[in-house]
Amino acid sequence: MTDSTFKALLLRQDDAGKTCSAIEQLTTADLPDEQVLVRVEYSSLNYKDGLAVTGKGKIVLNWPMVPGIDLVGTVVDGGSSEYQAGDKVVLTGWSVGEKYWGGYSQYQRVRPEWLVPLAKGLTPLQSMAIGTAGLTAMLCVMALEEGGVTSDSGTVVVSGAAGGVGSVAVAILANLGYKVAAITGRESTHAYLKELGASEILSREEMGARSRPLEKSRWAGAVDAVGGEMLARLLAEADYGSTVAACGLAGDYKLPTTVMPFILRGVRLQGVDSVMCPAPRRNLAWNRLAKELPQEMLNSINQVVTLEQIPEQAEAIVKGQVQGRVVVDLQA
Ligand code: NDP
Repeated sequence: MTDSTFKALLLRQDDAGKTCSAIEQLTTADLPDEQVLVRVEYSSLNYKDGLAVTGKGKIVLNWPMVPGIDLVGTVVDGGSSEYQAGDKVVLTGWSVGEKYWGGYSQYQRVRPEWLVPLAKGLTPLQSMAIGTAGLTAMLCVMALEEGGVTSDSGTVVVSGAAGGVGSVAVAILANLGYKVAAITGRESTHAYLKELGASEILSREEMGARSRPLEKSRWAGAVDAVGGEMLARLLAEADYGSTVAACGLAGDYKLPTTVMPFILRGVRLQGVDSVMCPAPRRNLAWNRLAKELPQEMLNSINQVVTLEQIPEQAEAIVKGQVQGRVVVDLQA
């Protein structure tokens, strides 16, 4: 690797504790002392990245920080790990972009145990159109399957549907033959959600309103990216023996529910985490994403931006204004 400079987005805290972002020139000598040097091709923008870059959430644990919880790229030097120069690798989670330097850099040094090989059938860009959000969506679908939800069980509902997790969840479920209801707060996304395979669209306002402990049951399963009153309602409306996969808090981290759905309808509430998800389950999920998410869907889900556009996109994602997935082209 040359000693020439490359660009990275760095977050620093000023004296008043405010987060400031700037594109800086680095050399590999500035990178963390980890084993595998990767030339980063793409990263992505997740809700968590939005919170980190804008400083609106306490995400960053070490300063200065290169944010970006996802990356895909080519190994330049694998050190003594199993990775060789030229290998295509993907990284999501493991507190990268929070505690350890992440994907918003043209080169990054990372630990081998954080990496998975790029799944066969996916291009680097497609892997970041999926990213943490898409991996989480797949893990939610797997949680529903493990709870016994099948495409014959009835309708599966997805909240935060036009966001990153929601969009991929709608597309996977529809492609697997599930009847999908999508909850969104944005009328402008209705056509997009129908294109992804939603057969019914529900308003965030109606579904986010306070529910009784039990409502008329109508969902065979649910993927919830929102939390709060929305998740409480999905539980209150869940069918007997159904599973609700909870992965997000875009609305609220609180859960104002009762024991009723659990003790009277045997509803299963399954938490889903992608950050520390063990490697075998991660690899399984990535391989399924490569096969079960139609490529034309992936193309309509993502938009590609440059490193320079990150601050404005970060503001947009925390305001819930981003549709689908945002991919960051590091080599642009
Ligand atoms: P996005 O911002 O892309 O999507 C979130 C969506 O939630 C928005 O598009 C919007 O959908 C909806 N939304 C936003 N604000 C509100 C609100 N106040 N009330 C109700 N709905 C709202 O984020 P991601 O898809 O990347 O992430 C979604 C959630 O999942 C986040 O909380 C994130 O932290 C979490 N997450 C968790 C992971 C895990 O491992 N458990 C991994 C990845 C994400 P619409 O416009 O359609 O209503």
